[in-house]
Amino acid sequence: MKGTTIDLGSYIDRDICCSCGHTHFSGVKLIDIDQGALTRLPGHIRDLGYHKVFLVADINT
Ligand SMILES: [Zn+2]
Repeated sequence: MKGTTIDLGSYIDRDICCSCGHTHFSGVKLIDIDQGALTRLPGHIRDLGYHKVFLVADINT
């Protein structure tokens, strides 16, 4: 089975033309998917100027 590659950078802080015919805004500021991402999280939060965080994860992340 062949996988699909998605350019996650195309979802960061920009308008997205949706298949529903509308344009939606993605307010995502940063995506970090890599080994050690959790240890970099405090720095990302600080760099983006946030003070409260809602973290969603599963056993794989
Ligand atoms: Zn849509």
